[in-house]
Amino acid sequence: MSSEYESTPFSFTDFDLSAPLLQAVNDAGYETPTPIQQEMIPHVLAGRDVVGQAQTGTGKTAAFALPLLSRLQPGKSKNPQILVLAPTRELALQVAESFTEYGKHLKNFNVLAIFGGQDYNIQLRQLQKGVQVVVGTPGRVMDHLRRGTLKPESIHSLVLDEADEMLRMGFLDDVEWILEQLPGRKQTALFSATMPPNIRKIAQKYLSDPVEITIKTKAVTAQTINQRCLVTTGGFTKKIDALSRIIEAESVDGILVFVRTKIQTVEIAEHLVALGFSAAPLNGDIQQSQRLRTVEQLKAKKIDILVATDVAARGLDVERISHVINFDIPFDTESYIHRIGRTGRAGRSGEAILFVNPREQSMLRSIERATRQKIQPMNLPSVADINKKRIEQFKEKITTALQKDISFYENLIAEYLEQTQVEPLQLAAALAQLSQGGTPLLKDEPKFRDEPAPASRRSQPVKTARTARPAEQRPKPRKSMAMQLPPEEGMERFRIQLGNNEGVKPGNIVGAIANEADINSKFIGRISIFDNYSTVDLPFGMPEDVLRVLQRARIGSKAMKLQKIADTTSQPSIQQKTKRRSADTRKQDQIKTPGISANL
Ligand code: AMP
Repeated sequence: MSSEYESTPFSFTDFDLSAPLLQAVNDAGYETPTPIQQEMIPHVLAGRDVVGQAQTGTGKTAAFALPLLSRLQPGKSKNPQILVLAPTRELALQVAESFTEYGKHLKNFNVLAIFGGQDYNIQLRQLQKGVQVVVGTPGRVMDHLRRGTLKPESIHSLVLDEADEMLRMGFLDDVEWILEQLPGRKQTALFSATMPPNIRKIAQKYLSDPVEITIKTKAVTAQTINQRCLVTTGGFTKKIDALSRIIEAESVDGILVFVRTKIQTVEIAEHLVALGFSAAPLNGDIQQSQRLRTVEQLKAKKIDILVATDVAARGLDVERISHVINFDIPFDTESYIHRIGRTGRAGRSGEAILFVNPREQSMLRSIERATRQKIQPMNLPSVADINKKRIEQFKEKITTALQKDISFYENLIAEYLEQTQVEPLQLAAALAQLSQGGTPLLKDEPKFRDEPAPASRRSQPVKTARTARPAEQRPKPRKSMAMQLPPEEGMERFRIQLGNNEGVKPGNIVGAIANEADINSKFIGRISIFDNYSTVDLPFGMPEDVLRVLQRARIGSKAMKLQKIADTTSQPSIQQKTKRRSADTRKQDQIKTPGISANL
């Protein structure tokens, strides 16, 4: 192993974080700070304003939450000291959950997420009881500030998270209004995946001499490595299932599985062992001598799979590693390049597979840019594929066994056949079953209890439209044509009772829907704004409770009164087709919905 492996990595204890926070980081199983954390934590701890160009998945939340919590003054006031503004309810919940996790060893510590769509009373009760950290979406934070239920006097730290997303969703005016209400002397951190001029202006106007941190990406080409990615929409169980299917379906030799935390290395290795694979964990908590032994076992084919953190696998050089599987997407592109470089050693070819969830698409794009290669999407190997492979392998085992000296068993079986008069084929089948030791040869389709995603990752409450495109890629409708274009495949059209006359902009609609109904903005389709009303396309089959929330949702102080426009689904389900009403009833709908043309 190279000396790189021996080097001491940067550690959380190198920062001046308070003991309860170091304890929480250790509990979370974080082994080493991510690049954005390494760069940012010291500056935030020193009280500086910071601008971080970083996307979700880089560990940016801990980069601001850990140092800000370290600077918290416990018991100073019942009023919030830290305010985080996030564009969506989903992100607000996720960030609030991270603050709760990191602050779990702090005394009398409370975090509150406030967002549209949730009962005010719940939020009011919490605010009255006292919270140190508030994480909220701009609209609801504004409401509470106006009502005087959120007291800004003690706020000494403000974070603007995913600022470009807030801009895209039309929240910039709200954010500025909030900034004007907060105490002048405060520390501000602004995070944005991109830095459009409007965000720069905000930084210039409201931040004081900020330190700017951008995690640079080195470009390399990894030509001997075939890179693929698998979109994983489920939780841990589904990812484990995907991992085990890939291991079975591909032609594998040694495998290196990368995960984020020390705890996961152990958990996943245990799962794999339980499934019959030979696997072992490799993390920084395991003694160096043991780690070296584990690597030797991989080389000697006593173990086939290592489940490792980035730090533990640093510099690992084992020729037989045929596959690197990124169970968790890395925090930055350099780690990705380093990880996949563990395969394709000594002139061999290698396979790199990346599990990526829909929220991690932007990191995927960054990786593609850095490696200058398109990462090809792959399909999850099917149970049928796996069973075909198992049958082939079973037959191969028989062929191999036939080449060995089996004379002892030949005699034994001949005796048995004579005694029992059993058909040889039947006997062979019985022996095959015996050789399986009670484990069926064929894999069953797994029956997942549909795991609720952890609260922090509850990102898509509605059926997603396969064809829905991110807002920036959506064609901008020409005003006169908009109503004539049917919704895209998998979408249906809704009418909103507010239009140009009320000053509504597309960003307001995206913001209201995304926040109130917790719909990821990328699933919001075409928006058209008319004088008296607007229309928006949403994924087909939105649950009734989500629709009810949206019917009551507001843009500013005005109700949207969102209503489905009948028969605008571009891809009806079978049940819908049978329920389709006659042309006559449809005509009546059009009459009841003034202003909507017959081409819908
Ligand atoms: P974020 O970019 O803040 O959304 O973080 C992405 C994920 O990385 C979250 O699940 C965090 O819990 C996790 N995470 C953050 N920092 C670390 C770290 N230093 N080591 C391992 N996992 C981390």
